[in-house]
Amino acid sequence: MSHIEVPDAEARTRLEGRQFSEARRHGKYLFAGSSSGPWLALHMGMAGSVRIYDEEDGQPDYARLVVAFEGTRRLAFRDPRKFGWAKVVETPDAEIEAHDLGPDALEIERDTFKDRVGGGRGTIKGALLDQSKLAGIGNLWADETLYQTGTAPDAKVNTLGDDDLNDIHTAFTRILNGVCDVDAHYKELPDAWLIHRRETGRACTRCDGEIESMKVAGRTTYYCPNHQGTS
Ligand SMILES: [Zn+2]
Repeated sequence: MSHIEVPDAEARTRLEGRQFSEARRHGKYLFAGSSSGPWLALHMGMAGSVRIYDEEDGQPDYARLVVAFEGTRRLAFRDPRKFGWAKVVETPDAEIEAHDLGPDALEIERDTFKDRVGGGRGTIKGALLDQSKLAGIGNLWADETLYQTGTAPDAKVNTLGDDDLNDIHTAFTRILNGVCDVDAHYKELPDAWLIHRRETGRACTRCDGEIESMKVAGRTTYYCPNHQGTS
């Protein structure tokens, strides 16, 4: 499955001579541009990254798109696994709307979260991953949130109470901020987190249970059946 998409020559010329004076992030999307537009929109996929370098140091591996600035500075969009994409867009807001993205997960208020997610008939894991409900939570942090709150990943949202949803909101806010605080260097995250033991049979840090996996919402899910249970 590879579908790397980068701007064609015509789209790229729209960026020529322009400045990146602003950057924005919404969910899993990054935007660089200026108030007069256009903007470069980037989605990192599973392993994408952006890297600033000097021309004389040579292009980094897996660079799918390179932005050449005046002088020798360059910005590379690297995407070794080819799940990401880049394109030139008019405004971030138009792109957010086109992808039907919900509010950003780091900014969503508790009551807004409960309005958008609460009462649903699907699983709580599926709801957290649904970028149209809230944008930015992927597989790892959905599992982490449910592990830390003791919630069964396959619990139907409409079986969860107000307190459960409050706890889930508090947890993913703390988790996402924690990941940002260490610039997503996973090894620096707290030892007790699930991220360090996403493997069947590993000891749970919250009880005497063992980690197991199952498919929820089409994704491989690690959890502790002992303290999280299943629905
Ligand atoms: Zn446990």
